[in-house]
Amino acid sequence: MPDATTRPVVIEPVVIEPVVIENAYIVPVAGEEIPSGHIVIEGDRITAVGPGPAPSAPEGAERVDGAGCLATPGLVNTHHHLYQWASQGVTPDGTLFEWLVASYRLWARMDAEVVGGAATAGLAWLARSGCTTSTDHHYVFPKGRGDLFEAEIEAARQVGLRFHPCRGSMDRGRSGGGLPPDEVVEEADEILRATEEAVRKYHDPSFGSMLRIAVAPCSPFSVTGDLMVRSAELARSLGVRLHTHVAETADEDEHCREQFGMLPVEYMDRLGWLGPDVWLAHCVHLTDKDVRRFADTGTGTAHCPSSNGRLGAGIARVSDLLRAGAPVGLGVDGAASSEMTPLAGEIRMAMLMQRARYGPRALTARQALEMATLGGARCLGRAEEIGSLEPGKLADVALWRLGGYYDGVDDPVVAFAYGQTPPLARLLVGGRTVVADGELRTVSDQAAAEAGARAHRRLLASDHF
Ligand SMILES: [Zn+2]
Repeated sequence: MPDATTRPVVIEPVVIEPVVIENAYIVPVAGEEIPSGHIVIEGDRITAVGPGPAPSAPEGAERVDGAGCLATPGLVNTHHHLYQWASQGVTPDGTLFEWLVASYRLWARMDAEVVGGAATAGLAWLARSGCTTSTDHHYVFPKGRGDLFEAEIEAARQVGLRFHPCRGSMDRGRSGGGLPPDEVVEEADEILRATEEAVRKYHDPSFGSMLRIAVAPCSPFSVTGDLMVRSAELARSLGVRLHTHVAETADEDEHCREQFGMLPVEYMDRLGWLGPDVWLAHCVHLTDKDVRRFADTGTGTAHCPSSNGRLGAGIARVSDLLRAGAPVGLGVDGAASSEMTPLAGEIRMAMLMQRARYGPRALTARQALEMATLGGARCLGRAEEIGSLEPGKLADVALWRLGGYYDGVDDPVVAFAYGQTPPLARLLVGGRTVVADGELRTVSDQAAAEAGARAHRRLLASDHF
């Protein structure tokens, strides 16, 4: 239990001016597209969306001319490891297990300063590609290296994104049959104590929350079944969500067959790890029965196509999951397994990979955009608040500047999804401007980039440890 002085920490929304966007092509995701319309924002909410100019504007509203722009809901990133910004480029041609074994050695040396710098750069990079809500899955906590979890929360506060950090963990080192070296794993009781403390200190369940915590043991090959079960019990007793990696590679299938006598999803099902409060990263290697179980239980999938391609993991059965009615969102995965992946770029990557597997009608631009927005919101249990542009929802809006080279394609959604990610005319998070005219406005691009580079150098230099 946390001590009596532990108080919830709430990221307060910044005081913001009303905004009126007009003349934009609006894709609300829920509802009909509007070829030239308006969005009115007051406080942290959307108060009106409709065709033509805004019939009225709140006093003192900033007017943004969206002519030549595409307005979409802000994108939702459902899987990430921000600290990995500091270890990009490790084993660029290895399998997942080869890459992990090489990376663990580096990650054992990170501290709060490395995590803070990496998170600042990673979150700034996400904002530049239209992300307004991001998760993070942090599962390496070397002893005596400062408060790593707090460091990334502080970075999110500065960059201004809605943040869902997951308190991750590993308790199954090599001596226990797991993949990670023993020095990077923690003891189960300590993990559960620290996880509960993180939830009690930071989790804000209110509508419009800028900060929510999830419970997230790392994977079947680095966590004991006992910790998986106890983590699920803890999360459900605290009313927070569950997240982990599942069915990423063929190596994992083999590991689970050898160690548990069954495939990864069946194993997770036995441990109580499928349900409407669970979303799982990757889910590449699924059986037909797994797909049905995901749909029946409402279990979400964080699809990370670039990372799956980079590690040669395979192509996830996203089309089958969507057809079955299971929630699917998009994720960039850690910067060490997808390097500089922008979140909007995952829309294109998801389309291409599904079509490579299932044919040219497998995933349309609009389906992929829905996955990146409302699909992600469903994974995080926030479909009532974010993921579409509707009155009453939070004002998380991306305004993409098309025109110029993009004018060669008449359908703005096709131009956006098939092409290189266009610049942002504006990115609003809860009505607050985070990006304007392609530049960050909360922290400077230069400061964020330098913070990431410093974190990388600090991690790779061993003399300060
Ligand atoms: Zn991951």
